[in-house]
Amino acid sequence: MAGSTGRALGLAGRKLTEFGGPRYGRNVQPEDQKIRKGNPAMADLASLAARIIDGTIEVVDLTSPLHAATPILQLPPEFGQTWPFQLEEISRYDDRGPAWYWNNFRTGEHTGTHLDAPNHWITGKDQDDVSRIPPGRLIGPAVVIDKTAQATDNPDYLLDVTDLDDWQERNGPLPARGWLLFRTGWSSRGDDPSAFANADDNGAHTPGVTPAAARYLAGTDLLGFGVETVGTDAGQAFGFEPAFPCHEAVLGAGKYGLTQLRNLDRLPVTGAIVIAAPLPIVSGSGSPARVLALVER
Ligand code: MN
Repeated sequence: MAGSTGRALGLAGRKLTEFGGPRYGRNVQPEDQKIRKGNPAMADLASLAARIIDGTIEVVDLTSPLHAATPILQLPPEFGQTWPFQLEEISRYDDRGPAWYWNNFRTGEHTGTHLDAPNHWITGKDQDDVSRIPPGRLIGPAVVIDKTAQATDNPDYLLDVTDLDDWQERNGPLPARGWLLFRTGWSSRGDDPSAFANADDNGAHTPGVTPAAARYLAGTDLLGFGVETVGTDAGQAFGFEPAFPCHEAVLGAGKYGLTQLRNLDRLPVTGAIVIAAPLPIVSGSGSPARVLALVER
C-alpha cells in the first residue's frame, strides 16, 4: 500500500520517513503530541464510531423522501412559484449509457426537507447564503417541544412564549448552538400533499409560532428552528403582524430554518445531536437537506 502510494506520488526509492519521520522531532506541536498519545477527544470519536456500529447510538433519519409528489409551498398566483421535484432519466444501462444509470433533477431550493439560509428573507439578505454557513453551525444538540395533541385538535395551533417558558422550566434552558424542533405530528400527512397543505378558501391551516415566540427564538443562542410542516411559519402567517414572523425574526437573526422533518417522535426531549446537510449552492437561499439525528439507545 505504502509502496504503491509512494510510486503514485513519484516517491520511488525514497524512504517514507524522509517525509513523515523527522517532522515529528523538532516541529511537533503540543496538540499533535496529544493526538498521537491518545487525546480524549479522539477517544470520544472512536467511541462514537463504535457505538454507531453496535447500535447503542442510533442514526435517525429526519428527512422526507424526495419525489414528484413531495409537498411544496404554493403561494398566491401573483407570486413566483417553486418547482416540484422532478427526475429526468439520462440513461439506464441502455443505448444512452450502457453501463450506467443516472438522472437530472429539477426542483426549487425549498423542496421537501430543506434548510432556510438567513438570506432567504429580506431581514437576513446581507447574511450568509446557504454555501457560506460555517459547517460547524450545521451540527448541534437538539431538543424537541411536543405539541402533537394541540396541533391535532387545532391545525392552526401556534407555539407561544409561555410554551417555551414551560418547556424550559421542565427541561432546562434551550441549548446554546443547538436546534429547537417543533413536533406536531404533521409529518404523518407527508405522503398526501392535500392533507399536508390542509388548505381552504382562507389558505393553509398548519401549525406555527406566534410573532412573540418568533422574536423570543431570535433572541436565543439557538442555531435554528425545525418543523414538520412545509415552512417554519404557520399556514395562516401571511396575515400575522408581521407576516411570516418566524422567517422575519429567526432568519433575520442569522439563524436557520429546517422544514418537513420526520421521525421527531423517535427523538428524546433532550440529548440528541442533529446534523443538517444542505448542498452548498453558491449564493443560494436554502437547499434540500439530509437531516440526521444521533440518539443514544
Ligand atoms: Mn424554506
